[in-house]
Amino acid sequence: MILSLCKGGFLPALAIPVSLLIAACGSDTESSGSGDITVVTTTTQLTDMAKNIAGERAEVVGLLAANSDPHDYEPKPSDAASLTEAELLVKSGGDLDAWADELAESSGTEAEELDVLDQVDAIEGDPHWWQDPANAVIAVGEIRDTLASIDPDGADDYEASAMKYIAEIEAADKVIAACMEKIPAEQRKLVTDHDALGYFAERYDIEVVGSTIPALTTQAQPSVGETAELIDLIREEGVKAIFPEAGLNADLEEAIAEDAGATVGGELHADALDEDGTPGDTYVGALLANANTMATGFSGGEVRCEQSG
Ligand SMILES: [Zn+2]
Repeated sequence: MILSLCKGGFLPALAIPVSLLIAACGSDTESSGSGDITVVTTTTQLTDMAKNIAGERAEVVGLLAANSDPHDYEPKPSDAASLTEAELLVKSGGDLDAWADELAESSGTEAEELDVLDQVDAIEGDPHWWQDPANAVIAVGEIRDTLASIDPDGADDYEASAMKYIAEIEAADKVIAACMEKIPAEQRKLVTDHDALGYFAERYDIEVVGSTIPALTTQAQPSVGETAELIDLIREEGVKAIFPEAGLNADLEEAIAEDAGATVGGELHADALDEDGTPGDTYVGALLANANTMATGFSGGEVRCEQSG
């Protein structure tokens, strides 16, 4: 029993007095209570959010790399090792990162688990909650509160960081709403790779005309009939531009745009953030970059969404 309380290192129990063992365990507990905790996150958006809240108090280990598709991620042995050390696992939720459940189980981790999709204002069956900034604000609050419960000494720090970060998210939301309002409603028509932007579309009053992979996952294939139907719809609805997603192959979008007489707009950051040093390398940056890409495509270049100051 005593040995099982001490993480790691096998001690030759018979040779060491029990009092010393207890002392060793005691000092372990102390150091973990001083805010030295590890948070594992699945998606790149969550990694960025958690880092903004954790600051220097907690180490955030993101499992997914920039521009990698969470729908078809295959966990590595090092992911299990990270989880074994972690105090908190933050999952995006739904079938997007369902692989994390198996990973958590096989790693034997005792980390607390936060499933964000369960907490936000969700569209049934759609796991892409972060595309609505109001849901990101809820997620940030949940991460803040969970971190504070695991590391109460850091509660004030988490609160201060979260407040600052939420203000940043809300400012981006205002910029996007104001910019979309400048575009006539009948021009706000979205066609992209898969149905990843339903939450964004709902928040900013954009009509989702269709997607080249008509599914809530990238792990589906369109039939020839579905693609032909989409081409007809793009023509009928007068869709100006269709938007490929960063990290996915754009060949089908290009072929469809050509057939339908539309242009290929810029790449959207749907399910992952972009490489470091690019405008889409943070959650807020990706939201703003997406808004600008869409506004430019919807309006034929007349409207841009840019954050002032
Ligand atoms: Zn997706």
